[in-house]
Amino acid sequence: MRRIKNITKYEDGKHFLSMSLYLKKRFGCKVYKVPLNIGCSCPNRDGTKGIGGCIYCSADLSGDFIIEKQEDIAVQYNSTVEKMSAKWGENAKCIAYFQSGTNTYGNQEFIKKQIERASNFENCVGVSIGTRADCLCDDVIEFLSNISKKTYLTVELGLQTVNDQTGKLINRCMDYSEFLKGYNKLKQKGINICVHIINGLPYETKEDMLKTAMEVNKLKPHCVKIHMLNILKNTEMARLYLEEKFPLLSLEEYIEIVCEQLRLLDENIIIGRLTGDGKKEDTLAPLWTIKKIDVLNGIDKYMIKNNIFSGDKTNIF
Ligand code: SF4
Repeated sequence: MRRIKNITKYEDGKHFLSMSLYLKKRFGCKVYKVPLNIGCSCPNRDGTKGIGGCIYCSADLSGDFIIEKQEDIAVQYNSTVEKMSAKWGENAKCIAYFQSGTNTYGNQEFIKKQIERASNFENCVGVSIGTRADCLCDDVIEFLSNISKKTYLTVELGLQTVNDQTGKLINRCMDYSEFLKGYNKLKQKGINICVHIINGLPYETKEDMLKTAMEVNKLKPHCVKIHMLNILKNTEMARLYLEEKFPLLSLEEYIEIVCEQLRLLDENIIIGRLTGDGKKEDTLAPLWTIKKIDVLNGIDKYMIKNNIFSGDKTNIF
């Protein structure tokens, strides 16, 4: 059993540091995320940075579990906690997750107030904020820095790929250098960052995906979330796929690529996700993404069978 920063890494049987284990060790109990929607839009949709958004993004702005935005966040929070405590018990704790849209974009005073409030909710031990690296003005950074002194804060940034050609194709409207500017501002303040990447983007090779993992590793993020491209119906990505029929990754290819990426990521990087949460009715392709448990089990089995671990191909830290 290997020990890393006082965490026994593999007691959950994984060959990487999973977020659930990290949280359990840090807080001494089960910790789950409570998604909150404060109705933030996205500068990549309203014309400020781009129009139409990233081509894979759904009309509801990528939230996996959307609650009506008109509900106050306390109502959203309590309603989820009520449901989840039946599953996890009264002693479990929560992280308030500002998930949908760009949660540092819009009315700054309103956003700050909601984040402050959430950080003080009962049983809330942390806050996660999903946003874009190009939406982090100095004032927001200062605010986040203060919040991070009071609670376990993570800022989640969508990178998807370090390949700017693909970035253009998916209409990310932010190149890698711009991403790095925002990333480094957070890093300099010691704020935890979670970087999201997507495998299987149109025309990306395995080498492209491994390069993204390698570059992300150099940034030393607190956490990484790896997603498989899920082509949702009624998106621009769906239109492109139907028109060009670009190659999709098979389940086996995805598993192999993810495991190779994990090997390139330092063992101290927390792995927050290894696939998406595609809904059957919304998914156009690939259909294997719907069976999340098969993907996760496949990754675990592959790592065990090949005796590989996260970080065994890097020694950057
Ligand atoms: S930045 Fe995020 S919310 Fe905005 S369009 Fe892209 S995926 Fe959707």
